[in-house]
Amino acid sequence: MASPDTPRESAARVFFALWPDEATARSLFRLSAEAHAACKGRRMRRDTIHLTLAFIGDVAHERLPQLMAVGDRVVPAAFTLRLDRIAGWRHNRIVWAGTDSTPEPLTGLVEYLNAALAEAGFPVEQRKFAPHVTLLRKAEGELPRGEIAPPIDWQVRSFSLMESVRSHEGAQYVPLRTWIAT
Ligand code: ATP
Ligand code: MG
Repeated sequence: MASPDTPRESAARVFFALWPDEATARSLFRLSAEAHAACKGRRMRRDTIHLTLAFIGDVAHERLPQLMAVGDRVVPAAFTLRLDRIAGWRHNRIVWAGTDSTPEPLTGLVEYLNAALAEAGFPVEQRKFAPHVTLLRKAEGELPRGEIAPPIDWQVRSFSLMESVRSHEGAQYVPLRTWIAT
């Protein structure tokens, strides 16, 4: 039980992400129902559906202002992300929505964030960016692979620094700051 004498967690588990608007989240959630009917697993809750831009992991609270400063350096752009592919990865048994045509502003945003994170001394992903929105975890059997028809056009207007808070109901995501395109 937390009390005033209990020290707070000294680190936050954080990541930069795109968070969908209501309509996009609804469409993705509907899509996950179809995928779930075919390959079971655990659906992402509608309010947790997102696209990770850069995962940072545990960061001491004192360093959060440095992460805010990284986000502040970005000039956020509005763009459309067309989600037109559903697929799965066998190594981690997730089913995800993705795209055949990653928009240049998305690639640019991720590259910029990674460069700014590295410069500020944060760990950065070495693997090539593979934009995906996780729909199912622990999917079973043959994983889907096909088109999303009609595609889901996500009008991206912002990005966020999120904290992942572990609870007995799974991860809860709390926005620490959101940067909105003008
Ligand atoms: P849980 O781990 O509790 O099942 P989760 O994976 O959704 O839930 P986190 O592990 O906190 O929650 O991850 C937050 C986001 O960062 C998710 O989109 C997750 O896929 C991504 N992520 C987590 N770990 C890594 C990692 N090592 N590299 C890249 N992305 C990661
Ligand atoms: Mg995880």
